[in-house]
Amino acid sequence: MHSDLRDTTLMARRTILVTGGSRGIGRATVLKLLSAGHAVAFTFMSGKDAADRLLSDVAAAQADSQETPAVSAFEGDVRDKGRMEEIVQQVIERFGKVDGLVNNAGIRRDSLMYNMTPEQWREVLDTNLDGTFWTTGAVLPAFMKQRSGSIVNVASLSGMRGIAGQTNYAAAKGAVIAMTRSLAREVGRSGIRVNCVAPGLVDTEMTADIPAEARKEMVRMIPMRRAITPDEVASCIAFLLSDEASGITGQVLTVDGGASA
Ligand code: NAP
Repeated sequence: MHSDLRDTTLMARRTILVTGGSRGIGRATVLKLLSAGHAVAFTFMSGKDAADRLLSDVAAAQADSQETPAVSAFEGDVRDKGRMEEIVQQVIERFGKVDGLVNNAGIRRDSLMYNMTPEQWREVLDTNLDGTFWTTGAVLPAFMKQRSGSIVNVASLSGMRGIAGQTNYAAAKGAVIAMTRSLAREVGRSGIRVNCVAPGLVDTEMTADIPAEARKEMVRMIPMRRAITPDEVASCIAFLLSDEASGITGQVLTVDGGASA
């Protein structure tokens, strides 16, 4: 699927690709980047309804606005290397370039390790880690050619300090952090920056299944005594993508209400 809102809006400042942009943190990031005047392409896997809802919400918001940023949605599984390469090519054809990437698509399949199935392990590593690798690999040739680009990977507090029941997820997110630091060292000289955000507890569909008592206990451990909002994570992503962060690469910005302080 490729849904265009408008064809007249290719003057936005940057073109940014957000994976898993249809819901939660990804959706908040798409909205934040659009409101900053960027063109945004976002992907989703199977939730077409959520993607269409986002496109129509943007169209409704644009109805009263002079500015008309461009947004397009692309269906694709981040585990599919070929599809991610195709999407990047389509984004370049549609917008003329790609300047930024947010590797946000992710899943959790929690289980204590002794109960964890090979499928739970594989699915989480394939999506959260390999998906980041494939999508980054798909944009890098363009970034190297233009000698500029900014990548923000959405990791997690879990990948920094570990969480019981998340050996798969923590391993994937920890690897994303290590990958971020290594890639930043590789491509810094080519004008490309690579950073991470590491959110703590954020209220999205991903965390909606946490039992109320467990959630209460998690919140009790957060100095700010509340979950982070998707919009707060989006602000940090937008900052790291922007020229305001032009001197920052290879870093992890935790957005956790002080949980890791
Ligand atoms: P969410 O609400 O569950 O949204 C996940 C998004 O990722 C959806 O757009 C989903 O699309 C997409 N997605 C999932 N698997 C995909 C795949 N294989 N290929 C392409 N897209 C895929 O999750 P969220 O809470 O916003 O999380 C976003 C990111 O933040 C994730 O990387 C997550 O690990 C990280 N994070 C979240 C929290 C938290 O507390 N929520 C904390 C730390 C880090 P479909 O609907 O089409 O499947």
